[in-house]
Amino acid sequence: MSSKMLQFVRTDKKMPEKRQATDRLGDFREIYADYNPAGAAEQSSRCSQCGVPFCQVHCPLHNNIPDWLMMTAEGRLEEAYELSQATNNFPEICGRICPQDRLCEGNCVIEKAGHGTVTIGSVERYITDTAWEKGWVKPVRPRQERDESVGIVGAGPAGMAAAEELRRQGYRVEIYDRYDRVGGLMIYGIPNFKLEKEVVDRRSRLLGESGVIFHLNFEVGRDASLDELRQRHDAVLIACGVYEARDLKLPGGGLTGVHQAMRFLTASNRKGLGDAVPEFDDGTLDARGKKVVVIGGGDTAMDCVRTAVRQGAEAVSCLYRRDRENMPGSQREVMNAEEEGVEFLWLSAPEALLGDDRVEAVRATRIHLGVPDASGRQTPQPLADSSFVVEADMVIKALGFDAEDLPTQFGAKDLALTGWGTIKSDFRSLMSNLDGVFAAGDVVRGASLVVWAVRDGRDAAASIHDYLRNQAKQVATAAAE
Ligand SMILES: Cc1cc2nc3c(=O)[nH]c(=O)nc-3n(C[C@H](O)[C@H](O)[C@H](O)COP(=O)(O)OP(=O)(O)OC[C@H]3O[C@@H](n4cnc5c(N)ncnc54)[C@H](O)[C@@H]3O)c2cc1C
Ligand code: SF4
Repeated sequence: MSSKMLQFVRTDKKMPEKRQATDRLGDFREIYADYNPAGAAEQSSRCSQCGVPFCQVHCPLHNNIPDWLMMTAEGRLEEAYELSQATNNFPEICGRICPQDRLCEGNCVIEKAGHGTVTIGSVERYITDTAWEKGWVKPVRPRQERDESVGIVGAGPAGMAAAEELRRQGYRVEIYDRYDRVGGLMIYGIPNFKLEKEVVDRRSRLLGESGVIFHLNFEVGRDASLDELRQRHDAVLIACGVYEARDLKLPGGGLTGVHQAMRFLTASNRKGLGDAVPEFDDGTLDARGKKVVVIGGGDTAMDCVRTAVRQGAEAVSCLYRRDRENMPGSQREVMNAEEEGVEFLWLSAPEALLGDDRVEAVRATRIHLGVPDASGRQTPQPLADSSFVVEADMVIKALGFDAEDLPTQFGAKDLALTGWGTIKSDFRSLMSNLDGVFAAGDVVRGASLVVWAVRDGRDAAASIHDYLRNQAKQVATAAAE
């Protein structure tokens, strides 16, 4: 093993520089800087090169983490990049926005031993940002072009990863998306302060240079049915995500000033991209000067509170019915939000939204976490006589998302769904009940993570390749008979 490694006993964990909260509030730029070469090498050298690397086991892509850390420590960055991109289509994106505390870094052995984790995500980001700077990131050039074509519904991370892998095999790939830009939730959901749009846009351009054809502003169901896509292509991948916002049926839910999270975030992201957004400009979706209450405890809620403080809200609080330890969002994001002045009201659930025409306040009740339910999570139980009122002139509901009614939307009544409304697909092949129609990403798992979407996109591409090769063999056998 390289003598450069195992330095965790001498070298402390050090994240890349983080901008001060007061500075961050003035814009929507990312909050972490990249490592410099010496910093990246030093932090990589802390890795203990475990025989069974739990970081790798708990990375959904099973990235070869210890090896690319060693190469970075030794200054072999181009090799580190080659290895890192072999398992991940977007390492610099995952490095920025994976909840590492729950995945690779949360399972790092030296973290468990109390030394502080190796900063895996930041090094992964550094390696690929460097690769972009140095011109090592190149469009896919397949060894052979094939005649078969694959249609992909959705240009989010699942669709993009699948497209790149399918182009690598030489298929003709066309992606259909109802948005006007490529990237899915990485463009219109996740704000710039976590992931700047240019980081996604350069990936979209690369896919274009690799030969992927995009049909934007193209809604499957409106502009073509699923059946029409099946006739146009030899295989179809549905990677359309989940967009049906869960609602909270509360008295006062229809008051002016109450919004769904994606409407609020999309408006803010579009504004940042320079689009005309009348609903933002007339103040409807602008938090400036307002008292904002966000209901929810996931990544979406964290993005809403941190967007609201940047827009210049007077006060921002987050109402969540469980406690900090049991929230679904990343702990790192909660810490960032607290630094930026967000108040968290843990163990609190809304009872009613108050006001005559416009929302003026939220009445909430305190919660006690009772015995675990069938899912193993403690059940929130309202405490008697514990109501309190929080002033609010803007309320944002961030309660998660379900799949839309896809069989109706796509004009495909036979498409089988799970009990949750997501697409039912074969566990191994990711094929739905319709021959040649595969599914990947949130539309299969329910709202999840970018890294899982990438994993599913890669797996689906491999299955589609197998399927098309089998089809070709069957045709050849039939012709020979
Ligand atoms: C606010 C927010 C913050 C998040 N933060 C994080 C985070 O920090 N880290 C993380 O890992 N994950 C995060 N996520 C989750 C992550 O963004 C998703 O898990 C991931 O984007 C799912 O990828 P996907 O490709 O399956 O779907 P999507 O990214 O949703 O892409 C689906 C695409 O399909 C298109 N589409 C839908 N229906 C149709 C149709 N009928 N016809 C044509 N096109 C269609 C959509 O326009 C979209 O472009 C966040 C999600 C949200 C909402
Ligand atoms: S993809 Fe995500 S989980 Fe995997 S190593 Fe990178 S940051 Fe960690």
